Amino acid sequence: IGTPSEQWREYRGAPTGTDIECEGWRQEAALRMLNNNLDPEVGERPEDLVVYGGTGRAARSWDAYDAIMDELRDLGDTETLLVQSGKPVGRFETHERAPRVLIANSNLVGKWDTWEHFHELEAKGLIMYGQMTAGSWAYIGTQGIIQGTYETLAALAREHYPGNDGLRGKIVVTGGLGGMGGAQPLAVTMNHGVCIAAEVDEERIDRRIETGYCQEKTDDLDEAIERAREAADNGEPYSVGVHANAADMLEAMLERDFVPDVVTDQTSAHDELEGYYPSGHTVAEADALRERDPETYVEESLDTMERHVDGILEMQERGAIAFEYGNNIRGQVEDHRDLDAAFDFPGFVPAYIRPLFCEGKGPFRWAALSGNPADIHRTDEAVKELFPEKDDLHRWIDLAQERVSFQGLPSRVCWLGYATEDGLTERARFALRINELVADGEISAPVVVTRDHLDAGSVASPNRETEAMKDGSDAVADWPILNALLNCAAGADIVSVHDGGGVGIGNALHTNNHVVLDGSDLAAEKARRVFTTDPGMGVIRHADAGYEVAEDVADAHGVAVPMRDR
Ligand code: NAD
Repeated sequence: IGTPSEQWREYRGAPTGTDIECEGWRQEAALRMLNNNLDPEVGERPEDLVVYGGTGRAARSWDAYDAIMDELRDLGDTETLLVQSGKPVGRFETHERAPRVLIANSNLVGKWDTWEHFHELEAKGLIMYGQMTAGSWAYIGTQGIIQGTYETLAALAREHYPGNDGLRGKIVVTGGLGGMGGAQPLAVTMNHGVCIAAEVDEERIDRRIETGYCQEKTDDLDEAIERAREAADNGEPYSVGVHANAADMLEAMLERDFVPDVVTDQTSAHDELEGYYPSGHTVAEADALRERDPETYVEESLDTMERHVDGILEMQERGAIAFEYGNNIRGQVEDHRDLDAAFDFPGFVPAYIRPLFCEGKGPFRWAALSGNPADIHRTDEAVKELFPEKDDLHRWIDLAQERVSFQGLPSRVCWLGYATEDGLTERARFALRINELVADGEISAPVVVTRDHLDAGSVASPNRETEAMKDGSDAVADWPILNALLNCAAGADIVSVHDGGGVGIGNALHTNNHVVLDGSDLAAEKARRVFTTDPGMGVIRHADAGYEVAEDVADAHGVAVPMRDR
């Protein structure tokens, strides 16, 4: 039926069911996850190979996609395929326990590690922006970030509103309803709060409303503020997307003396050319300006970002809790504009997530390769049975079942960590249980377990995951490299190393892994190792930086930290 990309145009999504087109399930999982990224329900602009996060791509070109598909269909059980920035470049005989696919995306040598140089190389067809999970074929749609956003806001509520029922009665103002940012309104309402989110692209608001992530939309800010105030006064959850530029909306709110309880942002500010929209244009006008005159676009985009950060700072000054939500808007303004105060509001990791990283906790996610929702529902039961004492986890699974619709391959996310029982970490215990369920036929086809690049021991990103580390080691990138090497040694089935995810080229290095649970002894062996070493990296990375919680976890669960007592 023609080339793989011609087939994609027909089917547009991952193959499902129990018959496979590759030699084994490890290769088949890679093929299904690549195509799942490009499912129109999952990716933001799959026809351009763009998955999420500005221009995060799954493959460099449709030719490269075709070649990857051909290689995966032909790849043996003892071979390893090499993918360089979304293009297959080699294939070697390795061994059964080695990864089937190794991926490196967007990496540049330090001195050249800038957007300018990246765009020159991209124009020559030599490199691709892999974002985080886009280029590593682990994106599962907005559902992938929802728990992280939910947990972050829950942590914020615990810290700033102790005794309050989450965010009940509180108004959160934000921007960006894209692939990741679209999770914000639902995460706020799941915490019982009210969300007003600015979004320039009306179609994105519509998409979030269609999938139940956002409740209403309006062009009228006064109406949005009134509805939000009313809902907050009545203690009712409510979300509204305002069709506006976020910088303009914050200024207009301040002119009206409206100061929310919480202010943040998830526009794609990490990329001033292809992610963030300057004020004063419709989306179509701005897209035309970018095409015609990219330099003017970038200048206007950075001017708007400066006003945007000013607006956040002014709201903070007037009493709002402000935090950056991982899009590097502070770094952009500090680097390109003269605004010394840009870092006067914290990033979300040091503010709310680092204590979890110290325990090796991170966003563990799994997808049912069968495409059958019942398989995920069986894993939901399994995770609850396995961790009966974790009330928050039970609440999360119940909420997710009730409120989060599947996109593409049915998937689930939950944050699990290193803590061991009978020598097995939480992540390993759960993966082994899924493997048993696959072996017993209670789950109809293999399950692939993967995670975000934003995890405890897998990323160096000084304006985000490693912002303000206790020992000043924010920019040390040895850690993610060790993490990727260790994932290979432990036998993960896909391992990837990327530059620039979340915060833009030159600002971060980070890694990802996949393990395919096909019910075999080999899968159990891999899962036991990978899901011990991978969260273990989070524990040793934070113990090395002097975090007591990480040192205590290392002591309690027997993680070797060689120079600890010297
Ligand atoms: P996306 O590109 O899919 O969506 C960004 C959205 O912002 C688009 O809908 C765009 O129309 C809108 N937008 C751009 N400029 C705007 C402006 N000035 N005003 C209003 N709307 C504007 O990106 P995404 O996947 O949603 O990610 C958003 C940002 O968050 C990125 O910078 C990404 O790197 C970062 N991110 C954060 C996390 C996290 O855990 N906090 C995770 C992933 C991504």
